[in-house]
Amino acid sequence: CGIVAYIGQRNAYPVVLKGLKRLEYRGYDSAGIAIINHGLHVYKKKGKVAGLEDYLTGRNMESHIAIGHTRWATHGEPCDRNSHPHTSGDGKLAMIHNGIIENYAQLKQELLNKGHVFSSDTDTEVLIHFIEEIRNSNQCSVEEAVRIALKRVVGAYVIVIVDEDNPDTLIAARKGSPLVIGVGKGEHFLASDASPIVEYTKEVVYVNDYEIAIVKADELILKNITNERQTPYIQKLDIEL
Ligand code: GLU
Repeated sequence: CGIVAYIGQRNAYPVVLKGLKRLEYRGYDSAGIAIINHGLHVYKKKGKVAGLEDYLTGRNMESHIAIGHTRWATHGEPCDRNSHPHTSGDGKLAMIHNGIIENYAQLKQELLNKGHVFSSDTDTEVLIHFIEEIRNSNQCSVEEAVRIALKRVVGAYVIVIVDEDNPDTLIAARKGSPLVIGVGKGEHFLASDASPIVEYTKEVVYVNDYEIAIVKADELILKNITNERQTPYIQKLDIEL
């Protein structure tokens, strides 16, 4: 129900955790986070963001990239296993998702036939496995695989992906669910709405339907579904905290 992601010079975990708390008003049943620090680490729990925070106390959460999620279950009961982020079969990609993949059952069957093994009941896990399958069979980048996958996906989504092999890049896309990108100095903030972003920057880009964002600390590239570069339209937020 809420997404937050960060890439830049700060330690990403506190930024994302605080952002998730700012999105709590939207309602949710579980929370989770992924960071990259000598490999990808995913932590997720049914219940409140504060419960996730307690669970993570004392761990080394140092990372300059993180994705965080609060879930409102639509496919699969609320439990740790069904919480986001969800990972690809090889464990290298982690994805958060708001929305519904309507044709997930058909995609899941195709993937099961190809030998994929799933560890949750969600539509979301099907999508990240589908992206992985395309990347492997086409020998293409994750960005290209996302573009191809989204042409087949029916439904509403905002997704954000981290890739253990590319720890300096976040890949995001949306259709029907909102995605705001805060543009800072050498850093970017992604969220479902501007509330987690306003305290850091007033410059934001609202991503349009069918756009894919390739986000690095100091670069924001937007492309449409046919791989054409779009000029990000930076707006000034006039809301105060
Ligand atoms: N459909 C996904 C799920 O049930 C995402 C739900 C959400 O938007 O939080 O896990």
